[in-house]
Amino acid sequence: MAATSITGIKGFNDILPGEVEKWQWVESVARRIFSSFGFQEIRVPILEKTELFARGIGEATDIVEKEMYTFEDRNGQLVTMRPEATASVVRAFIEHGLHVRPTMRKLYTIGPMFRHERPQKGRYRQFHQINVEAFGIEDPLIDAEVIYALLTFLGELRIADLQVHLNSLGCPLCRAPFRARLAEYLAGVSHLLCDDCKRRRVTNPLRVMDCKVPSCRDVLAGAPKMLDFLCDDCREHFQRVQDYLKDLQVAFTLDPYMVRGLDYYVKTAFEVLARHLGAQNAVGGGGRYDGLMKAIGGPDLPGVGFAIGMERLIMLLGEGVGEGTPMRLCFLACLGEEARRRGFRLVQELRRSQVLAEMDYEGASLKAQMRKADRLGVTHVVILGEDELARGKAILRWMETKAQEEIPLEGIRERLTALLRKPDGEA
Ligand SMILES: [Zn+2]
Ligand SMILES: [Zn+2]
Repeated sequence: MAATSITGIKGFNDILPGEVEKWQWVESVARRIFSSFGFQEIRVPILEKTELFARGIGEATDIVEKEMYTFEDRNGQLVTMRPEATASVVRAFIEHGLHVRPTMRKLYTIGPMFRHERPQKGRYRQFHQINVEAFGIEDPLIDAEVIYALLTFLGELRIADLQVHLNSLGCPLCRAPFRARLAEYLAGVSHLLCDDCKRRRVTNPLRVMDCKVPSCRDVLAGAPKMLDFLCDDCREHFQRVQDYLKDLQVAFTLDPYMVRGLDYYVKTAFEVLARHLGAQNAVGGGGRYDGLMKAIGGPDLPGVGFAIGMERLIMLLGEGVGEGTPMRLCFLACLGEEARRRGFRLVQELRRSQVLAEMDYEGASLKAQMRKADRLGVTHVVILGEDELARGKAILRWMETKAQEEIPLEGIRERLTALLRKPDGEA
């Protein structure tokens, strides 16, 4: 009996050739744009101690309560596959004392995150993010700058119809009275809330603002607004963020009910939405998280940053964007063992000269080899037969025009390299 085939885990996807080129392109644009804004790449591990996320994200959040991939490793240590990147980046920042190295305050990282959410279209349990973070800078200039960097990146990907939503979440000082007023309001409309929010209303009323259930959204339309509670410091900070964005010609909409899903956000919060299939979808979002570094046990330094969901980003790419221009490819069709050995060597030499070259490994007939070359979409085929080899020659065939000519084996690598690396190689 044949063994049953093993499939991947639900919510964990393979990215196949044909699709992966878009990912590579998005990543390369991210590296280029964010470096030009002075952000340096940091790579942090996928697995961390569970307490990092409990402290860094907040115990009473959905992520920590029900979505983390947490398990005991073989030493009995409780570990978690990172559900987001910021806590890890902050942990690394503290651990390596980067705060005393002023050249390393602006960082970005790209990689997979893991959340055990109910699988639904466009939401995966392993998903990918680009995270950009700046530490130790209090001034609202940096808030405006990270938003501008995000917009520049999305613009470079030619994603159209972008909208910036902006809010201020205040600070612990002004959030306390807001929280009390919100709790009071929610108590009065408790019967209209979903079951989760009935519970959140008591444990963490701000979480209710994050609820996606339509009936809860309706209830929130009449809720008090954080912007009305901002202390002088927070109000001035927020005003300056807006002024700097205007200086950069960035249009934005104030969105008083936008909150970020995580506990540690203060002051500036933002989302960038893009139109897709008629609906507005957040492609990236972030804000300021001044208390996080201290909460994780580091110095009391502010932070501001954002995360971009790569799956959604790739979905938003226009037709043909990021697919790259087809590479010029050469196929060596070889007949007979001697020709195969000569051809095999030539293929490796061409590859070392940055020419994409391919050959047949199965000893197929010339006809089958030509069919394979055709399927690969190659521009040129070199035919190496025993006759040609004996005379020190090969046949070079242009696939598009079907023209062919006999060329000497001597200097063939240079000839092919020149032909295939030139933009218009029809020499
Ligand atoms: Zn405040
Ligand atoms: Zn709700």
